[in-house]
Amino acid sequence: MKTAIATVSIAGDLREKLAAIAAAGFDGVEIFENDFLAYDGSPREVGRMVRDYGLEISLFQPFRDFEGMPEPQRAKAFDRAERKFDLMGELGADLVLVCSNASPASLGGVDRAAQDFHELGVRAATRGIRVGYEALAWGRHVHDHRDAWEIVRRADHPNVGLILDSFHTLARKIDPETIRSIPGDRIFFVQLADAPKIDMDLLYWSRHFRNMPGEGDLDVFGFMRAVAATGYNGTLSLEIFNDQFRGGSPKFISVDGHRSLVYLMDRVRRAEPDIKIECIDMPDRIAVSGVEFVEFVEFAADEEEAAGIAALLRVLGFAHVRRHVSKDVDLWRQGGINIVINTEREGFAHASHIVHGMNVCDIGLKVEDAAATVERARALGAEPFDQPVGPGEMKIPAIRGLGGGVLHFIDDRSDLARIWDIEFRPVADKSVVRSTGLLRIDHLAQTMNYEEMLTSVLFYTSIFRTSKTPMVDVVDPAGLVRSQAIESDDGSLRITLNGAENRRTLAGHFIAERFGSAVQHLAFESSDIFATAEALTANGFKPLKISPNYYEDLAARLDLDESLIDRLRRAHILYDRDGKGEYFQLYSPGFGEGFFFEIVERRGGYGGYGAVNAPFRIAAQKRHMRPKGMPKY
Ligand code: MG
Ligand code: MG
Repeated sequence: MKTAIATVSIAGDLREKLAAIAAAGFDGVEIFENDFLAYDGSPREVGRMVRDYGLEISLFQPFRDFEGMPEPQRAKAFDRAERKFDLMGELGADLVLVCSNASPASLGGVDRAAQDFHELGVRAATRGIRVGYEALAWGRHVHDHRDAWEIVRRADHPNVGLILDSFHTLARKIDPETIRSIPGDRIFFVQLADAPKIDMDLLYWSRHFRNMPGEGDLDVFGFMRAVAATGYNGTLSLEIFNDQFRGGSPKFISVDGHRSLVYLMDRVRRAEPDIKIECIDMPDRIAVSGVEFVEFVEFAADEEEAAGIAALLRVLGFAHVRRHVSKDVDLWRQGGINIVINTEREGFAHASHIVHGMNVCDIGLKVEDAAATVERARALGAEPFDQPVGPGEMKIPAIRGLGGGVLHFIDDRSDLARIWDIEFRPVADKSVVRSTGLLRIDHLAQTMNYEEMLTSVLFYTSIFRTSKTPMVDVVDPAGLVRSQAIESDDGSLRITLNGAENRRTLAGHFIAERFGSAVQHLAFESSDIFATAEALTANGFKPLKISPNYYEDLAARLDLDESLIDRLRRAHILYDRDGKGEYFQLYSPGFGEGFFFEIVERRGGYGGYGAVNAPFRIAAQKRHMRPKGMPKY
């Protein structure tokens, strides 16, 4: 199937938009009339420019308030149509979108509208133009695709067909299954848009909050399955009105858009195996299961920072177990957690250090098939990552992750699983290291600008078999941070995405100082947080100190045993519970530009991340924030 996007969906002038759209891999564009009107060029020049970018004009839109008008407005509407047909001829566009009439002057009646469309079809046919009719969710008389289809059916002209738009159908909660009975060849065009579930005026919701399929809460997948079942094999086009997108980078928004369509078609193809859907062939979403999905987390650091991280890891109970055969790269381990510290003076980690300072530059994920993971990611527009392989090194499949980092993939199918034996040799860590009972990584927390959150959600959910949790607000004393998690069903992959809206929040400060989004904290899992806290204290670890007021409030809020509150207070452990279980959290002070470690224990299937505790944790971190550098041990 061909892909297109409406020019109104992205920022820039028409030329910038077309360049970004073509680069992202779309086949065509919907020319939104205002984008054309604002451009300083004749219709012929615009048509040529579109074709020069290798694109086609899939649709010209919108033509408003046409059907059901009383005279003399009716005659005027036809005159307007004729002028638009002239313009389309110059542009080289052969399909126009007529949206259902929203004018208070319009009259109802299916046959009246059908007659108008029949006449319009006759006139359009003489010009080789086709007319598509779309039911706007807020149309005066027609606001349901079933009514629009009935009008098209009765108009009974080969140049008049139906245009479907997922937003209008799904926003009005019309069952998309009703589309299945429409003949596919009578559907002229399909527009796709998702949106977050917000209870508001339909017009305002549509004009400002649409987003890419898979980024919102509407069942665009169910809609598209029904469309595919009709036999429709025309263009799938994104018509996304979103203020944030219009203020964002045309390049990145276009890439997200193309990814969302490729991902959607792949899902539909798998769900409807009897229907032939032309789309990119790729491996299915990558299963994420098993206990230790995160194989390693790698820090880029200079020597001084590396010594600081090493000292902190030691009191956390990690042992320095291996060193790279040819590079300044060290492996620290506890339980199933592998932390790599890279102080090389060349290569990717070094480049990342120059740009971002000390940071998590690389994450290794354990998957069933590393090559298939890269193949799928590439099909979805992710950038493959390659760097020269040094002596004794293995070639590990990788892609560029978010915020300039790298994701490596390790599987059990090949030598990749033996990476620690092949690329590293054991070292004898002479210091006495007492394990603190840390078992594995519970979650990775990535911090980003709020505008990047949808990109991240789409990136992870399209590649991996994961889903997103509802967005929650984290209250930083200096502003709001939005938080959303990407999770696999069994919890073996948990990534929290934190979107900062300003620089004064702890998250916003981190992004500003680090020049971009990145992992801001790693949460380690313990099966007995009180035993872990004791072992940490014995190692000399100093936890982030939580205000005593927090524990007073905890006692008032929740009916907890006094002795439990006392134990929590003494160990500076934060507490939360949900319908299923309990959650315990312990934090390290921040280091570097605001990075920190967290230790958690989940009891009885607690599903969250302690968002309710975040304001207290953030306030404590701000009290303890050092301008720069590492805590001293
Ligand atoms: Mg539309
Ligand atoms: Mg956390």
